[in-house]
Amino acid sequence: MVRARHTALMDLMDCAVLVVEADDIVSEANDLGWRLLGSAPGSRSVSVRAALLDGLVDAVRQARIGVPVRQVDLCGQVRSDTSAVASAVRLGGAESPVLLVVRDITEVKRLETVRQDFVANVSHELRTPLASIRALAETLEDGAMGDPSVAPRFLGNIISETQRLTRIADDLLALTEAETRPVTEAEVALDELILRVTQKLAPQADATGQTLDVEVEPGLRVAGNADRLEQVLINLIDNAMKYTQPGGRLAVRAGQQGQIVRIDVSDTGIGLMQHELERIFERFYRVDKARSRQSGGTGLGLSIVRRIVEAHGGTVTVTSELHKGSTFTVSLPALAAPDEPRASVTPAAHAQVL
Ligand code: ADP
Repeated sequence: MVRARHTALMDLMDCAVLVVEADDIVSEANDLGWRLLGSAPGSRSVSVRAALLDGLVDAVRQARIGVPVRQVDLCGQVRSDTSAVASAVRLGGAESPVLLVVRDITEVKRLETVRQDFVANVSHELRTPLASIRALAETLEDGAMGDPSVAPRFLGNIISETQRLTRIADDLLALTEAETRPVTEAEVALDELILRVTQKLAPQADATGQTLDVEVEPGLRVAGNADRLEQVLINLIDNAMKYTQPGGRLAVRAGQQGQIVRIDVSDTGIGLMQHELERIFERFYRVDKARSRQSGGTGLGLSIVRRIVEAHGGTVTVTSELHKGSTFTVSLPALAAPDEPRASVTPAAHAQVL
């Protein structure tokens, strides 16, 4: 009974647990422990030394002389792409076995890097307009205020930089909301929503001589939050307009295939290189920073799109050819009839799209 409990406890732990005897032989381990040593679960008599993990051997040696080891970094020894930490403690007096615990912290480290990059990016994005505002205000203070040939332009620039700061703050808020708040489930008439949004944006396309074709199958219904789905459409269509030359063609097509509602937003614009296709969904990533800034972009639009679509159980993918154009495809589970199970969009369903 005690033994069964002990084994169950070890197997439940999501870290490698090993008991190392005085001769460095592992007498007991959970599945992750055996895997760490490169042995089949339930193996017997494997030496930690044979696993060639110097950090582990050192940790065991230290614990054996009575110095407990806490969370030492194994510095990529388990696998070059894995970060792990080890702790070790002697289970009694001299000559007693050592308990060794190894925890995979790869995901924790990855998230920490994402967080640090995000903070660095936000600071950078805020500092740029703030520095411009300050320089312009100081120049005005130093006398330019009385010079009618520059004062109105400088004031105009200050206003546009503050508008930029507002856009960044709004997008950061939208991103946080999309990431943290659960989607309110309500029936959304996606066909009507698409028609409404495209009508609203059509004058913007018209102004640069772009044509906007819209083909929407009637009766498209999904479960979700209409405001957030509207934001997805606005961001994608706005990008299609921004990254397509005047006179280019834009199209929004939507229809249902089985249990999936699919929306394609295509353009005949500048397109993207293959290696950029995944990166553009990262926060603050832009292919051409100057161009994005000039057109009022924050580099957050597509990350907001991806978060919202994923929160609705869907996916967003892109196909593109440089100088020819791009197509962004949003797939969402169609609203099921009350007694039908809800569909889900798995990445596999999109393999052909990528
Ligand atoms: P931005 O505010 O810069 O538009 P997004 O997150 O919306 O930020 O887009 C990220 C980057 O992806 C853009 O800077 C642009 O380089 C690229 N991109 C987005 N949509 C398109 C498109 N339709 N055609 C070409 N490039 C695009």
